[in-house]
Amino acid sequence: MKYADLILPLPVDSYTYRIPPAMEATIAEGCRVLVNFGRKRYYTAIVTEVHERTPAYETKDIYALLGTTPILRPPQFRFWEWIASYYLCKTGEVYNAALPSGLKVEGDTSAIYRKKGFAPRTQTFIRLSEVCRDEARLQEVFSDLKRAPKQEALLLSYLDLSHALNPRLTKELSRKELLEQTECTPSALDALLKRGVLESYEKEVGRLQPQVCRVQPPSPLSEAQKRAYEEILEQFKTKDVCLLHGVTSSGKTEIYSHLIEDVLKLGRQVLFLLPEIAITTQITERLGKIFGDKLLVYHSKFSDNERVEVWNKLLHSDGPMLVLGVRSSLFLPFKDLDLIIVDEEHENIYKQQDPAPRYHARNAATVLARMHGGKTLLGSATPSIDSYYNALTGKYGLVELKTRFGDCLMPEITVVDIKELRRKKIMKNTLFSPLLTQKVNQALENGEQVILFQNRRGFAPMIECKSCGWVPHCPNCDVSLTYHKAYHRLECHYCGHVKELPRVCPSCHGEELKMLGFGTEKIEEEVETLFPSAKVERMDMDSARTRTAYEHIISDFEAGKTQILIGTQMLSKGLDFGNVSVVGILNADSMLNFPDFRAHERAFQLMVQVSGRAGRRNKQGCVILQTSQPELSIIQIVQHFAYQNMVTLQLSERSMFHYPPYYRLIILYLRGKQEETLQELSTLYAGKLRERLGERVLGPVTPPVTRIQNLHVRQIILKIEIIAAIAPVREILDSIRSEILQYPPFKQLLVHYDVDPA
Ligand code: ADP
Ligand code: ZN
Ligand code: ZN
Repeated sequence: MKYADLILPLPVDSYTYRIPPAMEATIAEGCRVLVNFGRKRYYTAIVTEVHERTPAYETKDIYALLGTTPILRPPQFRFWEWIASYYLCKTGEVYNAALPSGLKVEGDTSAIYRKKGFAPRTQTFIRLSEVCRDEARLQEVFSDLKRAPKQEALLLSYLDLSHALNPRLTKELSRKELLEQTECTPSALDALLKRGVLESYEKEVGRLQPQVCRVQPPSPLSEAQKRAYEEILEQFKTKDVCLLHGVTSSGKTEIYSHLIEDVLKLGRQVLFLLPEIAITTQITERLGKIFGDKLLVYHSKFSDNERVEVWNKLLHSDGPMLVLGVRSSLFLPFKDLDLIIVDEEHENIYKQQDPAPRYHARNAATVLARMHGGKTLLGSATPSIDSYYNALTGKYGLVELKTRFGDCLMPEITVVDIKELRRKKIMKNTLFSPLLTQKVNQALENGEQVILFQNRRGFAPMIECKSCGWVPHCPNCDVSLTYHKAYHRLECHYCGHVKELPRVCPSCHGEELKMLGFGTEKIEEEVETLFPSAKVERMDMDSARTRTAYEHIISDFEAGKTQILIGTQMLSKGLDFGNVSVVGILNADSMLNFPDFRAHERAFQLMVQVSGRAGRRNKQGCVILQTSQPELSIIQIVQHFAYQNMVTLQLSERSMFHYPPYYRLIILYLRGKQEETLQELSTLYAGKLRERLGERVLGPVTPPVTRIQNLHVRQIILKIEIIAAIAPVREILDSIRSEILQYPPFKQLLVHYDVDPA
């Protein structure tokens, strides 16, 4: 009897199923099978092992084999297992995140037959019919067409575009291309088809964008860049991971290009990771020009079919390949990864929040690269303290690049005390200090561009009744609703609940609802009054909801159609504009006061990154940093780009309060419908943990947002010494969890872990 161990796309570990005799010869590791699990539901499972060991429990038969070609490569299993064990989740959850849903079929029996999964795309092409490929026959056709000038014109254009008469040069032409390029009408084309002069045929085409064919070598490196490049190679001789700390505009992308080229020349593969929003046309075009059709792009805005296509392309190709992708591209079927580049490695978007697996793509990348015998390069102008600490302690190599390309100067940052200006009534009802207004005006006069940064979206985070203080709250979550002026409505940023703005206060019927705080929309409004002649655009999660909207805002700004760009942190990522002379940070306070041990690290990164957009080419940029806490040391640190000082200061605090990088944080989330039961059980749970782990256990605590989607939330925080291995910790956690589960009321709770929260 033969059995197969399977991974199901569910929060469970693997299961064993029986292989029906008819399947025995064809089934293999990495194949997809359809199995029944639970009541009447079918899932696509993946075979991890075929064996003859009879399991202890009663097994079901595999229902069907979905193709005999494995769709995974063996290193992928090891990687899934590592993620599941480190991030305390199930391999099924990893599988669910890893595989594009186009490769998964699930549902009840009838649904399975309806959904066939990946459908190849076809397109209609046009060619000269067999008989007309003869010059003499073609002459006759033309004389026939004398009285049909539109058809004649179309046929001439077709022959011209397709080179149909010269077999060596003939190019396939789709119906769509032909019509677009000739401005001829579909009816003329249809008439030619009817005459039998042309004929149409269907052909499968890739969904992947045709790549730019113009392949050019990477730009020659400057002296400083060459030194950094060589140092990286030197570090890789002894270290698996190297951190490249290069100031904004130092040319990190150019250095990456040279490293990528080296690897591709050896016929091996490279993965270039970027935070979601940083994968713009800018970077795709830059890399496309150099690497042509060796470049594959993979991001979450891709349709499922496009993802399947990238997946298949990697699965069936053994050649050199560069994948530019977001965190989930770690799961693609690489054959031979020699190098993973993690650009903007400090971005916390690399950490997946929900659902499981809650993995950190930067850290997971180093593990994946090692599994392939490859290296990882982390790059940033403002490295995360975690990575920098690893470099300081010798775990990672460190390469620094402190000059901008072309010796362009770092921008000058001027700090403006807005508290003082407000006290003196110089800044009344405005977000703009006189200095900022003056600098913006100057830039506009010089035909230069301006970026205004505010780390918050929406018009105002809150609405408040002026007479009774009523604030609208989300009915499902414990947060106040955000006011969006453009839609004139209130929205919950946690669950998406939407509500019309009431005309009068529901609590006291007062008519004056005022706005507290401010966001990008408020700035836009004020900009329009202060600088009426300037063309303004706003970029945040609301205005750039779609990828095209986002690209559009960027390309308009690049082309100089927009003079002032207002935005949130979306602006700080990997963009390269040539004509920005002024950057205004309207209010640093909201970043600094954020209740998180990483608040200052993050504020530093954001402000330095956004400042880096100023003065990129041959002119020193100017940054106006407005804050009501100019005395904070972090402000002076930002002002002088004093990265090392920031690290020193933060490290001493982190070690004092037992935070990363000295301690590993694991947060246990408990969620339940009834608050009292939840509190009681959380206390019990924390007590059990404390018996084994002592002072490493904190809580239960009530998080800042105590209720999300109608479930109350409690956290238990674990601070584990970084030198402790994760396996014994996992064992302790697992055994306590199953012990606690004996207690029936506990079954109503939802529990999950977040390892290394970002
Ligand atoms: P970073 O990624 O470090 O912010 P980029 O790689 O985007 O920097 O480089 C900043 C700008 O300088 C880009 O416009 C880039 O084209 C240009 N640049 C950098 N290095 C070179 C080089 N060696 N040759 C030509 N242009 C370069
Ligand atoms: Zn809500
Ligand atoms: Zn009121």
